[in-house]
Amino acid sequence: MKKVNQTVFEQSRPGRVGYSLPESDVPVKTLPSQLARKEPARLPEISELQLMRHYTRLSHDNFGVENGFYPLGSCTMKYNPKINEVTARLEGFAHIHPLQPAQTTQGALQLMYELQEDLKVITGMDGVSLQPAAGAHGEWTGLMMVRAYHKQNGETNRTKVLVPDSAHGTNPSSANIAGYDVVSIPTTEAGLVDLDALRAKVGEDTAALMLTNPNTLGLFEKDIVEIADIVHEAGGLLYYDGANLNAIMAKTSPGLMGFDIVHLNLHKTFSTPHGGGGPGAGPVGVKAHIIPFLPVPRIVKEDNGFVLKEDEPLSIGRVKGYYGNFGVLVRAYTYIRTMGPIGLRKVSEGAVLHANYLAKRLQAAYDLPYDEVCKHEFVLSGKNQKKLGVRTLDIAKRLLDYGFYAPTVYFPLIVEEAIMIEPTETESKETLDEFVEVMLQIATEAKEHPELVQQAPHHKSVRRLDETRAARQIKVNDYP
Ligand SMILES: *Cc1c(COP(=O)(O)O)cnc(C)c1O
Repeated sequence: MKKVNQTVFEQSRPGRVGYSLPESDVPVKTLPSQLARKEPARLPEISELQLMRHYTRLSHDNFGVENGFYPLGSCTMKYNPKINEVTARLEGFAHIHPLQPAQTTQGALQLMYELQEDLKVITGMDGVSLQPAAGAHGEWTGLMMVRAYHKQNGETNRTKVLVPDSAHGTNPSSANIAGYDVVSIPTTEAGLVDLDALRAKVGEDTAALMLTNPNTLGLFEKDIVEIADIVHEAGGLLYYDGANLNAIMAKTSPGLMGFDIVHLNLHKTFSTPHGGGGPGAGPVGVKAHIIPFLPVPRIVKEDNGFVLKEDEPLSIGRVKGYYGNFGVLVRAYTYIRTMGPIGLRKVSEGAVLHANYLAKRLQAAYDLPYDEVCKHEFVLSGKNQKKLGVRTLDIAKRLLDYGFYAPTVYFPLIVEEAIMIEPTETESKETLDEFVEVMLQIATEAKEHPELVQQAPHHKSVRRLDETRAARQIKVNDYP
């Protein structure tokens, strides 16, 4: 699309400016010499038009769900309706300050209170805190409550958190950061928690089991009630990683399945743009016996309005400055209220239907190791293609040439050459069909012209990057 001519890559010319200021009409003061620069700052000297073109060109290199299909498994890259942006920008929400007295922020407190109530219904929990700023932060908050609960019961011997080997990487890390030892639970050939292994590992030292259902293979843990019984009988708590609630909304809930604590990713399921490192929200929900440990301040509804209550002796305290990422909360509230319960149920039905449709069609060329009815996502293996010398990473890069974002690759770890696909409910059948055609085309290329796939992408402004170095030694400009 875009050709960068290397000879004109450096556009700066001495003396060229992109602004004009009126002549100064105040006396000129000179800085003390120890504060003054020894040499002029090395800034590019360019015109306003060059600057505009530079950033507009860069923005075209940016791929988002608004440019194309983004089947990144576990991340729920679905379309975020623009009405959410309109409400988040309303002056009364965007221009309030968290230190304003509560009587001047009643509307914001009401929105947060009502969002908590909605999330209680959606998760089947009895209490909610909106404070955590991300999924992993919600997990850590949940585990701090697990710790506080056991401590209150005098059970400080509970030092272990059980985590299935298919879990999202944040689960073992959150458990570790919360001071627990992580015990891995294997997955059966059917892709589910191994109950015998669970029975063998659960005990008096178990603080909690962390689980996501559907699990990261996209499969529903059908033994969830039995799993809950096994953990509860041993005195442990059940923690639900609800980052991906897309498959189950208004169908079932973590509360019905027997979980005690859950976090949600509002920036996945509840429609806030994410992926660029911007603000998120990872509210936690708890059953009644955990409510005393929820973070403070709590939003309490009293006769003459909403108040913020700090005085909760068993609370784990604050986990975030102020009350969470408020803009994300406004978006989630708008989304839930525009969808309603029937709409949320349709979201889940659409997400599950789309995933099963893609899984069935892609089986024509790709290995599907867990060949079951899936929920909102599924995991292929690129092992057929690997035999031809084409790796999953190559397939992912080749997809970029065709204008699609790549699925999640090499996760979950228990699938060889994993390709984890989550289509989401917001895509049309035409888009899904186009994606299938391209994936089948790439499988054919892997047989007939493997080098085409191995060397992809061919049509992007950059080819293969050293991704580890790019993340560790980030260089955001070309000035030495
Ligand atoms: C995204 C995700 C998380 C982590 O959420 P962050 O907001 O990125 O911290 C945790 N668990 C699962 C299953 C996820 O998909």
